[in-house]
This record gives sequence, structure tokens and C-alpha cells, in this order.
Amino acid sequence: MLNLRDENVMRELNLYPLWVRKNVPSSESASLVADQPQVSPSDDVVGRVSTRQETIGQPKAVELQPQGVGRVSAEPNLHQYTHKPDLHAACTNENTIDWPALKQQVASCTACKLRAGCTQTVFGAGDENADWLFVGDWPTTEDVAQDQPFVGQAGKLLDNMLASIKLKRGQNVYIANVVKCGPAENHVPTHDEIAQCLPYLQQQIALIKPKVIVALGKTAATALLGKDATLGSLRGKLHDYQGVPLLITYHPAYLLRTPAEKAHAWDDLCMAVETMKQLQGTK
Ligand code: SF4
Repeated sequence: MLNLRDENVMRELNLYPLWVRKNVPSSESASLVADQPQVSPSDDVVGRVSTRQETIGQPKAVELQPQGVGRVSAEPNLHQYTHKPDLHAACTNENTIDWPALKQQVASCTACKLRAGCTQTVFGAGDENADWLFVGDWPTTEDVAQDQPFVGQAGKLLDNMLASIKLKRGQNVYIANVVKCGPAENHVPTHDEIAQCLPYLQQQIALIKPKVIVALGKTAATALLGKDATLGSLRGKLHDYQGVPLLITYHPAYLLRTPAEKAHAWDDLCMAVETMKQLQGTK
């Protein structure tokens, strides 16, 4: 049986009362959810257009591939984020920069216009030796005020998403955004601005050496993959970021507006857990 805390998490993910798979006793399904996420929802979900920065596209049926094989690699030729090495010289050589130097670089960065409207950068937070890395797009005004990624309602949902797979922010989990400055209201970072900031995230990944990366939303997904595509076409597959398994799911802010998609996000989290299970002991 689920305890009260697990029940609350599942309710927040819009996954409670529990789905019961055909021919599977409800007690067994409850056990699966409590101990190891394996439920595949069969609800039909209609594709919707995000009011965030991206067009989400028509979600496809989940395409679970055999674990550990068939990863979809980034296509370097399609890389749209050509960062400028002169602005991030220290970040292009992972052997010459450490956490303090990187944090200092980000804190003092004025490489793009986003900094003009942002009181402070939001570097990222969590376990700097984490197995799990969750990547969002950019900090909100609330995030900037608290110097933390993913605070507010979207952050609360992310916390619940983490809890649903028995993770907790700061404990073997690192959370960062592609863009470190919070854009002014209604300003969506341009490709150039994302390109300016991306080397910082790349350097964070090089330092953390996560086992699994989960991209939250289209901006994070396309920045890490280096190609443009709809989120619906990217999620449900195992991708690769420089040898690290990369899973893609919806941004919590989008899920708050479109709760029906939480079922797909749950599938994605289950896939991430299965991927991690296969990699455990390899770090
Ligand atoms: Fe620098 Fe990134 Fe802020 Fe632009 S968004 S000023 S590149 S830290």
C-alpha cells in the first residue's frame, strides 16, 4: 500500500487513483508504483501547444527502446548553438576550470543582453557529484530573487516529480538551467543568447559527470542535442549527450498548465529510472 506521502506525490502528478493494468491485481499495481515506477498509462492525450517558449507538437505514443541500445545521438552538423570561444575561453577547456572558477565566471558574466535585466545569475544547485542532472531552460524572477533554480510552483512540481522516483533535490541530484540569467518578462531568450550561455552548462556537465541527464522542456532538449525538433518527437526515446544517456520530458511549468501531459512525463521518468538502474555501479 502507498503511504500518505506517496499518495500525495502521485496525486500531484495526476496519477492517483492508481492505474490498474489489465489482468494485473490492483495490489500488485500499487506495489509497482510504491517500489519501482513501471506503470504505463494508456490514457489518450491530445497534443497541445505550449504557451512557454516552444511549440510542443503532437505527442507520440511512448517509444520505449531496449535499454542501453539504440540511443539517438546528437547530430553535430545540425548544431545551431555555435558558442563564441573568445567569450568563454576558460570554459572550453575542462582541465583548466573548477567549480569556484566557473561560478565566478557565471556570476560576473555580461556576455549577452539578458544580464542587463537580471539582478544576479542563477548558477544551479545540488550535489556537485550527482548521478542525476535535471536541466531546465532559464530562471524565473522568483528563481533569481532566491538564487535557486526551480522555486515557486514549477519547482514544487519538480520536487514532486523527483519524489515520485525516490529522488530529492540536493541528494545525488543537481539542477541547472541552460541560461543563467532570468529574462525580462515576456522575453524569450534568443538562439544567440542561449548559445552564449550554453558553454557554462556544458562545463557543469563536465564537472558533475552525471550518469543520466533529464532535459526539462524543449529549450534544454534542443540545446543539449544541438538540433531543433518538437518535444513530442524527442521524448520517449533514449538520447545521448557526449556519452551520457539523455532523457527528455516536459518542463514542469508546462505540466502545470497541461496536467494531462503528466502521464507522459511519468513515462519519461520511468524510462530514466530504468536507464539509471542499468548504469548503477558504472561511475
Ligand atoms: Fe552571461 Fe548567460 Fe547571463 Fe548571458 S545569460 S549574461 S551568457 S550568464
